[in-house]
Amino acid sequence: MEVSEKLTWIELDKKHFFHPSSSIKDSYEKGPVVFMERGEGIYIYDADGKEYVDGLSSLWNVNVGHGRKELAESASEQMKKLAYTHSFSRFSHKPAVQLAEKIASLAPGDLSVVHFTSGGSESNDSAFKIARHYFKLKGQSQRFKIIARDRAYHGVSMGATSATGLSIFRELGGPLAAGFIHASAPYSYRCEECKPECKGDCAIESIYDLIEQEGAETIAAIIIEPVQGAGGVIIPPPDYIKAVRKICDKFGILMIADEVITGFGRTGKWFGIEHEGVVPDMITFAKGVTSGYIPLGGVVISERIYRELVEHSNQNFAHGFTYSGHPAACAVALKNIEIITNEKLVENAAGMGILLQQGLEKIKNELDIVGNVMSRGLLGHIEIVKDKTSKEAFSSSHKVASQITEQAFEYGLITRPIMYNNTDIIAICPPLIINEQQINQLLDILQESIKKIMGRI
Ligand code: PMP
Repeated sequence: MEVSEKLTWIELDKKHFFHPSSSIKDSYEKGPVVFMERGEGIYIYDADGKEYVDGLSSLWNVNVGHGRKELAESASEQMKKLAYTHSFSRFSHKPAVQLAEKIASLAPGDLSVVHFTSGGSESNDSAFKIARHYFKLKGQSQRFKIIARDRAYHGVSMGATSATGLSIFRELGGPLAAGFIHASAPYSYRCEECKPECKGDCAIESIYDLIEQEGAETIAAIIIEPVQGAGGVIIPPPDYIKAVRKICDKFGILMIADEVITGFGRTGKWFGIEHEGVVPDMITFAKGVTSGYIPLGGVVISERIYRELVEHSNQNFAHGFTYSGHPAACAVALKNIEIITNEKLVENAAGMGILLQQGLEKIKNELDIVGNVMSRGLLGHIEIVKDKTSKEAFSSSHKVASQITEQAFEYGLITRPIMYNNTDIIAICPPLIINEQQINQLLDILQESIKKIMGRI
């Protein structure tokens, strides 16, 4: 882009574009960090033609990579035939039914009925309302509380923000919705309670404590991300999620798995919960279902819950979005799932995931300021510390993770810093199509960026 043209765009951006999840002051005063223009595979290119490895699949969602003409064509074909019709009042259309059936065939256990939304926040709000409605219909309207966890990210609509366990989101736009309470996050590396080693027992204890404090008869659901994403890419300890399922069974609480990031292959299985050998009562999804090419989300609920809803229902289910089951979005999702299946991208995520983990371990061994690494499939985390032995973190004023991701950006890699609760974490989440050479490229840039900042702090 010509310099003069760029300046015009920057001025227009500063004046008219209120950016999501961005510093308002910096947006107004400095304008955008970059203008992205096109994408191809795992790469994204800015308006000056600079290439970046999209190490976060944009917002953890461009799973089949950029530039997939088949997805554009599937939207175009559906739009030419019937761009939009709703699905309220039992109106229906083939793309929504086909997609619901497809998702039911992929989801674990008896999860087989799909309620569509336009994204992750809407999906979680819908799941909370379904859980509350379910208990109300069964004559247990006192069961409305939702247990979520510290470090959880469930979105920014009012219900989803209330479930989110990250203060920066919770502080904006309150007061929040009533009935959301938080247990500890299962981040063993940062546990100061369990000796000699944390196996997640303390995080399970904290759920029991909440239940005892509030009364089991008041708890409708526990929501968990199979891998906590925006809160730090926290892989839970083995058997932690099994223990959550046990608690749900013991007290008649519904278990909601938020698979907005982990769904559709990200962790090397179709759904992240499959690593745990348990079946939740609901799965919420979005992002990877369309690889971000068009907005779509939803809630898959178990056949058992759906039957109970049917049995006890006596009036309209007064919940749904204009774009629930949008025909073009469903057509894109079907094509996206076809690509994931045909190109064996779930298997690729599992295989490349092993290389990612090995590469992260190598960086940890070679660099003094890398304290912890963890990954599952193509979802990884690297934590920077001042002292490897004591695990002491750098002062938050250093913003070390942020400095590293800015350096990586300069070197041509996009990742994300996660700096909650005085931890310097860098998240890694490349497209599922990534190959060995590209994994190495990503890891090399990451390592060089950490080294560069190491030399400065
Ligand atoms: N749940 C999880 C686990 C997420 O990561 C996100 C988005 N990052 C959401 C919910 C919210 O999704 P959306 O932004 O589509 O509303």
